[in-house]
Amino acid sequence: MRPPLIAGNWKMHTTPSEALAWFGRFVPALAETPHAGVEVLVHVPATHVAALAARVQGGDLRVGGQDLSAHDQGAYTGEVSGAMLRDAGATHVIVGHSERRALHHEDDATVAAKAAAARRHGLVPIVCVGETESERDDGQAEAVVLRQLRAGLAELAPTDPHELAIAYEPVWAIGTGRTATAGDAQAMAAAIRAELRDLLPTLADGVRILYGGSMKPANAAELLAQDDVDGGLIGGASLNEHDLLAIVRAAAETHAAVPAADDRRPGPNGAKEDPT
Ligand code: PEP
Repeated sequence: MRPPLIAGNWKMHTTPSEALAWFGRFVPALAETPHAGVEVLVHVPATHVAALAARVQGGDLRVGGQDLSAHDQGAYTGEVSGAMLRDAGATHVIVGHSERRALHHEDDATVAAKAAAARRHGLVPIVCVGETESERDDGQAEAVVLRQLRAGLAELAPTDPHELAIAYEPVWAIGTGRTATAGDAQAMAAAIRAELRDLLPTLADGVRILYGGSMKPANAAELLAQDDVDGGLIGGASLNEHDLLAIVRAAAETHAAVPAADDRRPGPNGAKEDPT
């Protein structure tokens, strides 16, 4: 069974002291929230990683970065390397977020180089893929997503499925309040899983595929109940500790509802079928 991964993405919000105060409220609240089997992670601005990682040391909340340099060190003013994030205490890092692709002109090759840089430094890259609204309207959504997936993983040679995660984030759903239907999210996650079976045959069934795009308490349970949706990458709602906790609870309930030994076999379209 794939343990759900609930990952907040704070983008460029909060100062370090505001973030420490937030963690001061969230950490004890998380401890009181049943979340067995659910991994919880918050991707914070790079300036916050060290203090927040120290704050959660020994607990089960993890801290991630939102981006990293493709380079290991050198004359790259303003960039943050994988080694810096790892040493500061990050465990994961987002690569290829659509805001980086659109606003910072990151192409597929850059995303691949950043994913490889993350692995060189022991970070788990969460590789984001997703189509724009016009690509979806043109019937290109799956082709775009699978191209980004193949390209983003091109420089990785994982030996364990938890060395990476994929986030399917339709661009038109990010920060807009619009959410993919659960059926559309499942269909794309199943297509991603099928492609992973081709790219990483022995690992594909263990790789977590997250959905991102206006996930919130009101829609999380239905999205997380989909067979190939193994968690969420959550922007706006993750800034509110009550909303993030509600999503963690939804993940825990969904996880608990799945048969303990998930020996259901993938059916023809990748969906799980209960053993008969
Ligand atoms: C994101 O930033 O990755 C995201 C999914 O944002 P939001 O949840 O606000 O749409």
